[in-house]
Amino acid sequence: MKKYRVRVDEDLCIGAASCVTVAPDVFALNDENKAVVLDDTAEDQAETYERWLELEDDAYENLLLSAQSCPTLAIFIYNEEGEQLFPEM
Ligand code: SF4
Repeated sequence: MKKYRVRVDEDLCIGAASCVTVAPDVFALNDENKAVVLDDTAEDQAETYERWLELEDDAYENLLLSAQSCPTLAIFIYNEEGEQLFPEM
């Protein structure tokens, strides 16, 4: 398991929901039609635009696919060292 920081830029998110389709365990739309980051392993279940997630490699690959599917590139992924993994800089 590796730790990743996942952030949705709520200004960029247009509620297209492709991230929810690809990774329904990580993303959901809130009342404002913006994607929030879920973590079903966390004690704190509050909906949030930003979270640390601990993921196996295959779950990370799926997270990456969901970020790539976002038409406005509103999903940002960072590693534990704070480096931006997606979108690639
Ligand atoms: S795919 Fe992008 S625009 Fe669509 S809900 Fe997810 S973050 Fe928002």
